[in-house]
Amino acid sequence: MSETLAINGGNPVRKNFLPYSQQWIDEEDIKAVNDALKSDWITQGPKIVEFEKLVSKFCNVKYAVAFSSGTTALHAAAYSAGILKGDEAITSPITFAASANCVLYQGGNVVFADIKKDTYNIDPIEIKKKISSKTKVLIPVDYTGQPCDIDEINDIAEKNNLIVIEDASHAIGAEYKDKKVGGLSDLSVFSFHPVKHITTGEGGMVITNNKELFEKLQIFRTHGITKDPEKMKHNEGGWYYEMQHLGYNYRITDFQCALGISQFKKLNRFVKRRRDIVKKYNKAFDQSKEITIPYEKPDVKSSYHLYMIQLDFEMLKVNRRKIFDALRAENIGVHVHYIPVHLQPYYKQMFGYKKGDYPNAEEYYSNALTLPLFPKMKDSDVDDVINALDKVINFYRK
Ligand SMILES: *Cc1c(COP(=O)(O)O)cnc(C)c1O
Repeated sequence: MSETLAINGGNPVRKNFLPYSQQWIDEEDIKAVNDALKSDWITQGPKIVEFEKLVSKFCNVKYAVAFSSGTTALHAAAYSAGILKGDEAITSPITFAASANCVLYQGGNVVFADIKKDTYNIDPIEIKKKISSKTKVLIPVDYTGQPCDIDEINDIAEKNNLIVIEDASHAIGAEYKDKKVGGLSDLSVFSFHPVKHITTGEGGMVITNNKELFEKLQIFRTHGITKDPEKMKHNEGGWYYEMQHLGYNYRITDFQCALGISQFKKLNRFVKRRRDIVKKYNKAFDQSKEITIPYEKPDVKSSYHLYMIQLDFEMLKVNRRKIFDALRAENIGVHVHYIPVHLQPYYKQMFGYKKGDYPNAEEYYSNALTLPLFPKMKDSDVDDVINALDKVINFYRK
């Protein structure tokens, strides 16, 4: 039987487009937001504190501060870690730009450390090579939901007097040596963007066990202003407040946190569903000689924000663009995560980074393909992805 790809005018595997990720909002979520909108509070109300408490308790951490996005949460973390002009922070080149940008917002410089070939997470050995007298902060990323080597990274931080900001935007619900990601570093950051595990529309959170860092996060969220009489230099009366630092308006709203609370109830179910889909994918692709499935370290449990395969394009004798376009034509919303941050024009121009600087990251990027993964996917959707990939690879294999 000769197959024709949709791209060549054949029938696509699916009629409608399957995105790589999507939120799952149900009637309970809608009611929660509705109720919050009918309450007296639209912005800084009780739902924010309730949401912060839920997440900090889940992660076994003392303090949490919710923000308007994962990016503003990262900026707040960079501020409270004390990054100032000229300071250096080390992060992974394989991440979303925000992990690095938060350093620039504070006037700091970004240094990348290459990734490991097995987990695609930042390599502690490479971090050590990049530490200088200006290094202040390490920003490892729990890439795709797989926890980074946080024990080794914390060890390096301790020896060099550095603060660790763990970008756990992919990893709420993940576990490292039987402990929940979130309480394992000085500051951990989550994102509640709709493609992530649970959503508040836009939103983010920083969690920490350190009271001093917590207070800095709080003040940064609201213009650097304090109304706490104990912290003020003077007190001129009931109206009085002091702006003691340069902060921003990075607040999240109460109704967004009402959504967050409602979504949070489903977190375990969502993570389990993601893991089940990954098992199906792994089983389907494990035997294919052109495909490398993701490797999960034995001492971690990934929460699988993304499912990524590495394709051997040399063996397939076709470039990624053709495979990507062919799968899109089958209505499968494949994607590529991420373009190495050091190769973004802004970073090349600002810091002089160039191709060849981080070989593992670049090799990973050139072979990467993200397949759809989100809890609302039905088993038949998963089958469509498997069938479409099979169809496209078989077509080029000939
Ligand atoms: C999603 C994400 C963020 C934060 O993004 P927001 O859209 O601002 O919530 C930060 N780092 C990584 C790795 C991310 O994937």
